[in-house]
Amino acid sequence: MAPFEYEIVTKTATTGKKTHVIYVGDNKYLSRGIKKNGQAFFYCNFVSVHHKCTSSFRVRYHDLHNPMDEIPEVETQPSPHVTSDGVAHLPDKVKRLKENMTEKICEAIKVDPLRPIREIHEECLNNVLHGIDEAEERIEFCQQMPTYRQCERNKRRFRNRLIPPNPPTARDIRSDGIFTLDPETGINTICFDDQGEADHDRIIALGHPEVERYVKNVEYRF
Ligand SMILES: [Zn+2]
Repeated sequence: MAPFEYEIVTKTATTGKKTHVIYVGDNKYLSRGIKKNGQAFFYCNFVSVHHKCTSSFRVRYHDLHNPMDEIPEVETQPSPHVTSDGVAHLPDKVKRLKENMTEKICEAIKVDPLRPIREIHEECLNNVLHGIDEAEERIEFCQQMPTYRQCERNKRRFRNRLIPPNPPTARDIRSDGIFTLDPETGINTICFDDQGEADHDRIIALGHPEVERYVKNVEYRF
C-alpha cells in the first residue's frame, strides 16, 4: 500500500465513551464499528443532499478489549471521494476549519470553565482567521463561520456539564476538583473553618487563582 497522510484522533464523549476519528487532508472519516477479527472500515462523512460519500479504507485493531487505547494500523488506501450517485466531491476545508474552531472552544472551556464564553469564542475565531493564508478561503470562512449567537447555547450546555451543581452541604464539596485545586501548584485551595454552633454552620473559602490574585493585590495596598 502506498503511504498517505492521515491523523488519528481519539474523541471522548461526555458519557466517557471513546471513539476514533481519522482525518485525511480535510476529509473526516468515521468508523461504523469493529469486526470480531479486529478489522474496521472508516467512511468519509461527506453527505450531499441525498447521497453519502463512498470513500472508505480499512484499519486493524490488535487489542480487542481496549481498542480505543490503541492506534489502529491503516491497511488500505482510501477509495475515491464519489457519492452514491456517482458525483465526485471536493474536500471541504472551511467545514474542517469550523469543526476545528468548535473543538478549540471546548478545550479552552475545559481549561477554565469560569472564563466568559464570549471571550473564548473571540479568541478561537481570531486564531482560526490568522491561520488562513488564502484570501478566498478567508472570505468563505467569514461567510460561514459560526457566530457567537449560534454557538452560545451549545457551549453553555457543554460548560454546564463541567461545572458541578451546588452540593447540599459543605462536606460534599469535592476538594480535588477543578475549582478547588490550584492549577499551577496542585495545592488544595479549599479551606473549611468551623465558626458556628450548628453542625453545618461553617465558613468555606474557595481560592480560585483569579480570586487569590485579586485578594493579593488588595493586600499590597495596605
Ligand atoms: Zn468523501
